[in-house]
Amino acid sequence: MNRSRITIADIEQARERISTAVVQTPVVQSAALSELNGVCVNLKLEHLQTTGSFKLRGASNAILNLDSEQRKYGVVGVSTGNHGRGLAYAASQAGIRCIICMSSLVPQNKIDGIKSHGAEVRIVGQSQDDAQIEVDRLVSEENMTMLPPFDHFDIISGQGTLGLELLEQVPNVEAVAVPVSGGGLISGVAVAIKAQNPAIRVIGVSMERGAAMHASLKAKHPVLVEELPTLADSLGGGIGLDNQYTFAIAQDLIDEFILVSEDEIAQAIRHAYWKERLIIEGSGSVGIAALLSGKLQTSKLLAVIVSGGNIDLNLHYRIISGENVDVANE
Ligand SMILES: *Cc1c(COP(=O)(O)O)cnc(C)c1O
Repeated sequence: MNRSRITIADIEQARERISTAVVQTPVVQSAALSELNGVCVNLKLEHLQTTGSFKLRGASNAILNLDSEQRKYGVVGVSTGNHGRGLAYAASQAGIRCIICMSSLVPQNKIDGIKSHGAEVRIVGQSQDDAQIEVDRLVSEENMTMLPPFDHFDIISGQGTLGLELLEQVPNVEAVAVPVSGGGLISGVAVAIKAQNPAIRVIGVSMERGAAMHASLKAKHPVLVEELPTLADSLGGGIGLDNQYTFAIAQDLIDEFILVSEDEIAQAIRHAYWKERLIIEGSGSVGIAALLSGKLQTSKLLAVIVSGGNIDLNLHYRIISGENVDVANE
């Protein structure tokens, strides 16, 4: 399959395909955020997804759509974060071999996170580039299939299932705030939502430190940005200079883009804990950060995607205790 345009039909098929592989996550109304904003605010609690983020949707869809030859040889990836976890779990559930390659600089808790979901971890070299060389070798010499974190037809279609779910749970939603890194999530969600109601606003949110999609949209082509330490660590990295899908969809379908500071992200993590009783990671909190900071002002009925919950609990404790954590100096 090599079609260039992702449609709602692809997302509906994905939903069917992954129906037993993922859970339908709940939506709750936030009294505190609604009052603050003067408009009803719904939180889509995707940090409660199996493996702690929506990445399982795309990974499951891609894995369940492999042909029998590809299944035999297995899948490989380089992500040490939520995509790696999703891939590892989806592969182990499907009984498919999965190798995640990483450099020796990756901290032990991340290695353990991936291993606990059933993947083989291969530690190679001193950098992400060294890990990528091993991935390329596994693809060319061992016929394994590389599954990237966002710029892939089945990954985007899988993430889009979150949009279908959200529209069923909040049928009258008028605006949706979505965390953005490479843009797989917002692309899938935007296709799903705009196909049903183009008037619904799709609002992207990233951190100020190293927002590659935002910089690329501004430049009107994919650009490199310096990767900086941030509390929203799942939103780091580029969108790929040879981006195939997500940049074009983002250009077409994103209505507004907001950047939030480290301090605003910390405030959002605190708010989520003390006011909503939610433990969420920085990347999952950027929509709340946009609201709390006043940068997201809307009179429309809003849904905020809380995209993930995989935060180091020691770091989380320090943030909610009021410590002014600067990850650049950690
Ligand atoms: C990957 C990720 C994102 C961003 O997803 P993209 O598809 O890369 O834009 C947002 N939040 C969390 C928790 C993630 O893991």
